[in-house]
Amino acid sequence: DMVKLIAGNWKMHGTSADLGEVRAIATRAGELAGRVEVALCVPATLIHRAAEAVPGFAIGAQDIHHKDKGAHTGDVCAAMLHDAGATVVIVGHSERRDAHREADADVRAKAEAGLGAGLSVILCIGESLDEREAGRAVATVSAQVDASLPQGEIDLSQLALAYEPIWAIGTGRVAGVGDIEEMHAAIRQRLVAAYGQAGSAVRILYGGSVKPDNAAEIFAVPEVGGALVGGASLKAADFLPIVEAGA
Ligand code: 13P
Repeated sequence: DMVKLIAGNWKMHGTSADLGEVRAIATRAGELAGRVEVALCVPATLIHRAAEAVPGFAIGAQDIHHKDKGAHTGDVCAAMLHDAGATVVIVGHSERRDAHREADADVRAKAEAGLGAGLSVILCIGESLDEREAGRAVATVSAQVDASLPQGEIDLSQLALAYEPIWAIGTGRVAGVGDIEEMHAAIRQRLVAAYGQAGSAVRILYGGSVKPDNAAEIFAVPEVGGALVGGASLKAADFLPIVEAGA
């Protein structure tokens, strides 16, 4: 069985006042090394300080620009994140697809840029409530995967997908284990279609209201290779029980 990846997505939360949480999470993750992999994707402004505070622990970003430099006011490229100490980046989160109109082709370009700069990439996909209720969850997510997967000379060991049903994000409404199993199986099929046998080793994380009290049940679902955790990743007291459930 593959080692699970438990990644925290702090979204727009966190300043230097929260470095104690980063340290507490990294310390326990170090003790569990080899049994579970842990990463924290913090705001861009906190990457450098967090990375310096916890050497050897995976600090990540939540987005990147797909180009390597240029006239892109406010944007940050993969090499800059790497330079700041990030080793991981999330691309295609539904909050960016929505609020920043990122399309599958943009997400693919970002994934390729991240991998190309030596970052691990967590690529997010997931259906809306309307799409699920119309019976189109599998079709929607399969099409997202097909159009967002990075191509070319890439190190697949540095890629993970995160299935995050939009209706389960920040709502306390977690997807049922049967739905998670169905969706992860469909995503696995698309990974193997795209990459051949190598696609069977790419971890597929679940995200959406993962909490200490539901993590173990979610991690027991076939093809769940870890979790992408929002709200419950902000405090070590919430996040570490999830990490331990994955170890
Ligand atoms: P919550 O865990 O707060 O539901 O957020 C999930 C998420 O969007 C992680 O990227």
